[in-house]
Amino acid sequence: MARLALLSVSDKTGLIDFARSLVEEFGFEIVSSGGTAQAIQAAGIPVTKVADYTGSPEILGGRVKTLHPRIHGGILARRDVPQDVSDLEANDIRPFDLVAVNLYPFEQTIAKPDVTLAEAVEQIDIGGPAMIRAAAKNFAHLTVLCEPAMYATYLQELRQQGEVSFEFRAACAQKAFWHTSNYDRAIASFLGSRESVGARSSAPVQGSREELPQQFAISGERVQSLRYGENPHQPAAWYQTGTSATGWAAATKLQGKELSYNNLVDLEAARRIITEFTDLPAATIIKHTNPCGTALGTTISEAYEKAFNADSVSAFGGIVALNRVIDAATATALTKTFLECVVAPECEPEAREILASKSKVRVLILPNLETLHETSLHTIKAIAGGFLVQASDDLVADTKQWQMVTEKQPTPAQLEELLFAWKVCKHVKSNAIVVSRDRATLGVGAGQMNRVGSVQIALEQAGEKAQGAVLASDGFFPFDDSVKTAAAAGITAIVQPGGSLRDADSVKAANELGIVMVLTGVRHFLH
Ligand code: 5GP
Repeated sequence: MARLALLSVSDKTGLIDFARSLVEEFGFEIVSSGGTAQAIQAAGIPVTKVADYTGSPEILGGRVKTLHPRIHGGILARRDVPQDVSDLEANDIRPFDLVAVNLYPFEQTIAKPDVTLAEAVEQIDIGGPAMIRAAAKNFAHLTVLCEPAMYATYLQELRQQGEVSFEFRAACAQKAFWHTSNYDRAIASFLGSRESVGARSSAPVQGSREELPQQFAISGERVQSLRYGENPHQPAAWYQTGTSATGWAAATKLQGKELSYNNLVDLEAARRIITEFTDLPAATIIKHTNPCGTALGTTISEAYEKAFNADSVSAFGGIVALNRVIDAATATALTKTFLECVVAPECEPEAREILASKSKVRVLILPNLETLHETSLHTIKAIAGGFLVQASDDLVADTKQWQMVTEKQPTPAQLEELLFAWKVCKHVKSNAIVVSRDRATLGVGAGQMNRVGSVQIALEQAGEKAQGAVLASDGFFPFDDSVKTAAAAGITAIVQPGGSLRDADSVKAANELGIVMVLTGVRHFLH
């Protein structure tokens, strides 16, 4: 008897060619749900409608289409179990050889800004996952395909071997269960989310803080194995959470060695800084997740030169992110030192040639490098027995909210410089201090256990250049010692969150020393 395929797909990509190959090359008979059958029939390919096959019409506006013993019996029957075989005969059921199903586009539906709860609920596929899971369970006897991309491989198996291997069927089953579990996770997340509450009440949700859901599931598909993790004895891999390549998985590598775990961690740190600066060309150089140099310029090559000169010793082996197209001048500058990675939104052909002379440097193109922050991100940390989740720190600095607390008020130029230092400081590990001038960092104190120690490191790095520079601190000053140290080195303005019991001491010291102090009312710890 001819082989039997069950096709029921929302995404009809590749459907017609696939159905034609099944029928014409391999003599399949096809059973399909309403819309799928219509498409196949319109292409002149023979197909039987599920409703005709089962004798039960589609009901409840499509909620019940394929939920029928003639369908599920045909999927779940074991061909080597006599009871199953006699059950099929007794009920006039034919076993399926292939089930190709893809699900209602739930994620695309909820991505629409004005989706209603009813619309979203209607996009919860019931029959599809039932068929996929049944077919995946019975992978010993049939194949399940849950994405159009799998059609070609299936046909290739048939062409090469005349049948489909056990290994292929097992791999398809595993993929199918990931697929349905991701699908259900998306539904559960939506129902627990602010969007769904908004859709439910059609009234805006009060308060700006989103409560994280009761359950937080995270799963991902491996993008690639990494040679190792932070150290060579730590196995590691890179996963993507979405079904399509987004974020770093969407980057194109023009050249260079394989990306490492540490590269990706540092690239992400670089990306986060670069998203702070969109108006002017910006460059940052990262070492161990901290920026050793960050700068703005009138051109991208100027921005890079300034970032490099901020700490040219530390820049060796750094990770560079640029917010503008790499031109020939910038490429030439980039080749003058050893760098691990460079990422930018684009790279001119001439610049590509110049960079190619340093073939080991990984050069990545990520077109939406600057706007990736629009996707809401979470920070996830493992702790014994579980993990912690928080919304990523994507608060945009707003100088209108800042309090000018000293007798001396900042000049417009100082305010702009303070904003630059503050934006960089947000991305430095706590206790973080950034000293800057002319929109370039001069010294960075990172990851110190006491704040005045971090101030000393940043000032030492800045050296003579600290004269007339400004200083930013990610947390408040518990004592006035940091202010005194900064003023002694020539700092003229300080930005810090404020909120210490001894804020008054720090303000008094600033007034006595004739420097500006500004309080943001916001802190940016980073661990
Ligand atoms: P079609 O375009 O062929 O009418 O519908 C195909 C879609 O319907 C597929 O995404 C499939 O997963 C889904 N589907 C198939 N059977 C059922 C069912 O019984 N109930 C529901 N809710 N969806 C089904």
